[in-house]
Amino acid sequence: MTALELDVTVRPRLRLALPQKDRPSFIEQLLPLAKENVSMIVVMRSNATEEELNAVLARIQEHGLKGRVTYGEERNIIGVIGAAIPPTLREEIERFPGVQEAVRITRPYKLAAREFHPQDTIVQVGDLAIGGGSFVVIAGPCAVESEEQIMTTAFAVREAGAHMLRGGAFKPRSSPYTFRGLGEEGLRLLAQARAATGLPVVTEVMTPTDVDLVARYADVLQIGARNMQNFQLLEEAGRSGKPVLLKRGMSATIEEWLLSAEYIIAQGNPNVILCERGIRTFETATRNTMDLNAVALARRRSHLPVIADPSHGTGKWYLAPPLALASLAAGADGVIIEVHPDPDRATSDGGQSLTCENFAALMPQMTALANVLGRRDARMLSARI
Ligand code: PEP
Ligand code: MN
Repeated sequence: MTALELDVTVRPRLRLALPQKDRPSFIEQLLPLAKENVSMIVVMRSNATEEELNAVLARIQEHGLKGRVTYGEERNIIGVIGAAIPPTLREEIERFPGVQEAVRITRPYKLAAREFHPQDTIVQVGDLAIGGGSFVVIAGPCAVESEEQIMTTAFAVREAGAHMLRGGAFKPRSSPYTFRGLGEEGLRLLAQARAATGLPVVTEVMTPTDVDLVARYADVLQIGARNMQNFQLLEEAGRSGKPVLLKRGMSATIEEWLLSAEYIIAQGNPNVILCERGIRTFETATRNTMDLNAVALARRRSHLPVIADPSHGTGKWYLAPPLALASLAAGADGVIIEVHPDPDRATSDGGQSLTCENFAALMPQMTALANVLGRRDARMLSARI
């Protein structure tokens, strides 16, 4: 373990311990600093004087660094800009009167980093609170195919205990000759299923120009693995203000994944749910390799909720249940699973979709494991916020 890791993670630092209600405006205050690639932030006490602030700025300048002040309603913040931060600067600054705390920001992503925001971010979707020690189960077909298919699945997964419904209306497909989704009709069917079951829906948006349309129907926008680095799409989804489920690209590093989350948050939208969905490796026996390291590491490096997709992660329906359980054990804040009433006739991803019966059999195991791990149901947690 490097000294850097020790500094950031071993010592439990409940820094920037702002109440939940103060955090969105705090993120807005930090935005201009993140854009300047800030390396350290100094949070002044709410009663700090102008002289105390200037004294800190002067010391920062003595070190050949730039100090950038952002004035907030509650407190003022100084961002330290410059790469060569002396190792002892943080302690030095914290001894100044009027300083509440100083925090080093060492990662290239800033707003997505746990350094910036030590508490878990909780993404609120309807009555659900995703993140922060809860667990959420999202289930549904790969693609919305028909009214009967989506309604049957929605009722079945709700009955089994799922919290949210998934289903693609715009499908990214490797071949242009396969079923690519029902488009807006699929979105209408998802809205109908939500109205009938009360389950919030998540569905994929593939282009920046479709964001408005999809946001009108969906509770959560999904950005797929193939689009993880479609930066205009990330920004447009960020601007929509809707929660975004951001899948990890199949060949993306964890750092690239978190930098993509940064694009969304940098639009002032902190409601990002990360989703590990398996990566490409040398292994050909499974569609992808479920990277559970990434689940555990993303939770450590970032404050964002992390969920796992064992359906795409394995490509095999009979591997989805064990990997769903393993994901939960590895720290995932939830899972997203493909379920189809008749997988043999599915237009996409039938081979990795659970039947409604198999999904119903998995749910009690998920709940039992969640209890052992001390996780709360996302519905119960929301009641406490
Ligand atoms: C999906 O969720 O059906 C999907 C296409 O996922 P991914 O982008 O992870 O391949
Ligand atoms: Mn799929």
